[in-house]
Amino acid sequence: MPNKKHLSNLHSASIMTSMNQSAHLYQLQKIDQEIDRINQRLKEIDTVLQNDEKLLDAERKISEAKEKTLLSRQELRAIEDEVKSITLKKEQSESSLYSGKIRNPKELQDLENEIALLKKRILSLEDAQLEKMIQLETCEQEEKEASTEYSKTQAEIIGQNAELKGEKDSLEQKLTRLSLEREATLRSIDANNLAVYKSLRQTKRGLAVAIIQETSCAACGASLRPAEIQSASSPKEMLFCSSCGRILFSG
Ligand SMILES: [Zn+2]
Repeated sequence: MPNKKHLSNLHSASIMTSMNQSAHLYQLQKIDQEIDRINQRLKEIDTVLQNDEKLLDAERKISEAKEKTLLSRQELRAIEDEVKSITLKKEQSESSLYSGKIRNPKELQDLENEIALLKKRILSLEDAQLEKMIQLETCEQEEKEASTEYSKTQAEIIGQNAELKGEKDSLEQKLTRLSLEREATLRSIDANNLAVYKSLRQTKRGLAVAIIQETSCAACGASLRPAEIQSASSPKEMLFCSSCGRILFSG
């Protein structure tokens, strides 16, 4: 009874003979090209996910608007406090004026002058207060708009990121599956042939194995002799394009 290991050796031996090395390398190349494509896309996705400049910009605008509103509110409060304190002073002076306790005409005149000045000051402060109130209202409106814009941008980016995160997950799953497929394919490939394949992939822009299309190399278009085409289907020997140097696969 053959053991499990023996069976698996028999199995790969039969694959070795039923498919030639170029076919396995061609299969490996398909997997590697897909892996490259996925890795490239994953890189792009990571760049987008890390680069939320639009949201940062919206955040900056909202904090600027908030700061302006706060400042405006503080300035308004300062004016209101001043109005209160001057009004109190004016009321005190008026109460002294009408108390009947001061009889000196000079003193009474001074008091009247002071009250007149305080009234004038209150009027001018009230103008400033009104102006500040209008300014505050504008600031509050701007803050509200910045806040709406921020929420809109945030929703957009969350939506976009969720989509990209979903794509990333599915690409990562695909990558796991492909690396298993790659391992399985590698079991049928001779180490020397693999080394040749790897070096060709590096020097030939990722395309180490070229298909024979009719009687030419599909990668460079060079015509092949019938004997070359014949030996390309040999299970043991690998044929290389004499023009571009790639491994030829008869398809
Ligand atoms: Zn060629």
